[in-house]
Amino acid sequence: MPGLKLKSLKEPTESHDGFRKLIARYRPRYLPKSEENWHEWWKELAPSRQLHKAYMIDKKMNWSVYKNRFLAEIKNNPDALDEIKELKQLSKDQDVTLLCHCVGIDKHCHRFVISELVEKRSRS
Ligand SMILES: [Zn+2]
Repeated sequence: MPGLKLKSLKEPTESHDGFRKLIARYRPRYLPKSEENWHEWWKELAPSRQLHKAYMIDKKMNWSVYKNRFLAEIKNNPDALDEIKELKQLSKDQDVTLLCHCVGIDKHCHRFVISELVEKRSRS
C-alpha cells in the first residue's frame, strides 16, 4: 500500500521508503555530501529558526505550545500549504517518507504534525 511514512534520517534507507523528503530546517552536519540519502529537501515544512531554537535548544515551551506555534507558521506560509497539497497527491499512489533528524518514539517532532495535516486534508 502506498502512503506517507515518517522516519529519522539516522535510520537506514529501505527500498520501500519510496520518495525520501527531508523536511528539517538544517542540513545534517553528520552526513557528508556524498552520503546524502534524501531525494528532496523541503525546508518550508520545517519550523522557523526562531521556533526551532526556542523549543529544541532553549527549551522555552512545551510540546503543545510548540505544536500550535508550528501549525500557525504553516497556515501562514503559502509555500508550505502548497507542499502539503503536493504531498497529499504524491502519497496517494507512491511511497513517500518524511525525514527529520530526531530519533524517538514520543512523536514530539514536527514531522508528525505535517503527517497529521496531510492525512486530514486527504479525508476532506
Ligand atoms: Zn524532528
